[in-house]
Amino acid sequence: MGVAENLERVREQIVAAGAKAGRTGNEIELVAITKTHPVEKVREAVEAGHTVFGESRVQEARAKIPELPSNLRWHFVGHLQKNKIRHALPLFELFHGVDSLALAQEMNRIAAEDGGHSRVLLEVNVAGEGTKFGFKAETLRTGLEPLLELPRLSIEGLMCIPPLADEAESSRNYFAQLRELRDSIEKEFDVKLPHLSMGMTHDFWIAVEEGATLVRVGTAIFGERPKRAKN
Ligand SMILES: *Cc1c(COP(=O)(O)O)cnc(C)c1O
Repeated sequence: MGVAENLERVREQIVAAGAKAGRTGNEIELVAITKTHPVEKVREAVEAGHTVFGESRVQEARAKIPELPSNLRWHFVGHLQKNKIRHALPLFELFHGVDSLALAQEMNRIAAEDGGHSRVLLEVNVAGEGTKFGFKAETLRTGLEPLLELPRLSIEGLMCIPPLADEAESSRNYFAQLRELRDSIEKEFDVKLPHLSMGMTHDFWIAVEEGATLVRVGTAIFGERPKRAKN
């Protein structure tokens, strides 16, 4: 199947899952994850009318983005290294994986120096896995104030990557936990966190049922990724 058909099918699944949960498909943004795929593949999606894309490595994004139409919107979905912040800030309209106060502070500092402002989502390590990036749910509560006070960052929601499982249904509980955490933080801190970034190729429809506003889908659109050492 070509990229255009794949996109169509993923969009249909999003609308169907949304309908099940009483939501309309246009509350949900499909972020097409292009990491490892060449610009020709991305162009197929652009020709099919898609405009929102995600990359997880700054270097790769810096090479690709200038090759593509300038009206596309790019999201960063990876773990941002501090020495890449300055390059990354102007490229991306939303950072999904801000996973520590130290990173947020450094992004804020560099944004201030460069006269910019960034929109971010905080990554939550929903399963408390030692190997994963992200805030523990409890740490987020106790550590939210200093994040909210960073003047150059707008914190717009939460993001998670549940443990990989065979069954899409296994992710449901984690997605629901992220939503509940968001709801309770909104109340406790009197803030608005409109976005929940959750769901990938193997579980995005479950995420939509559980309230995702952004789903990050790569493989179902562009096919299997060429192997590389690390994502
Ligand atoms: C690669 C990646 C995705 C897309 O994964 P697929 O399984 O190919 O849909 C989504 N989110 C993040 C953070 C990723 O790194």
